[in-house]
Amino acid sequence: MAIRKIARLGNPVLREKTREIPPDQIRSPEVQRLIDDMIETMREYEGVGLAAPQVHESVRLFITADIYDPEDSEKLLAPARVVINPQMTFLTQDEVEYWEGCLSVPDLRGLVRRPRKLRISGYDRAGNEVQFEAVDFAAVVYQHEYDHLDGVVFLDRMTDMKKLAFLREFGRYIAGPDEKVAD
Ligand code: ZN
Repeated sequence: MAIRKIARLGNPVLREKTREIPPDQIRSPEVQRLIDDMIETMREYEGVGLAAPQVHESVRLFITADIYDPEDSEKLLAPARVVINPQMTFLTQDEVEYWEGCLSVPDLRGLVRRPRKLRISGYDRAGNEVQFEAVDFAAVVYQHEYDHLDGVVFLDRMTDMKKLAFLREFGRYIAGPDEKVAD
């Protein structure tokens, strides 16, 4: 396993539409190595999620760590996942707002409104079809990672740029230092 270099905002790879991974290639050594490297990279930089374009691979794959409730750090909302070729369906018109950050947009936090409930279907790393639902913060994390596969970053989703802050100022003026955000 290896820690990969993170593409930062301005790198064209973050703005490309990614290509699907043929299901019969999911178990290939190349794809499995990419997944292992992404997991190690996400851990190293303490992200909640990581999408393949963020490590310069323009394919439809993202991973997430265990997702905990930002209001209750003991409450597990969703287990760690590897999601390949995801399809996303919103299950409500209701929206929620959370502060988001991104390893590719370092040191910034921005407030983003997104649908609060969704269903995702796709493949896991064994090549099995999977389907799951998520609400609230977990739904936000999945949308953030899914967006990366379409060349979209959280800044594009912001409706009020006054709600953009550097991490340090965010901690000082807006939230406590332990505030959890979607990466
Ligand atoms: Zn991101």
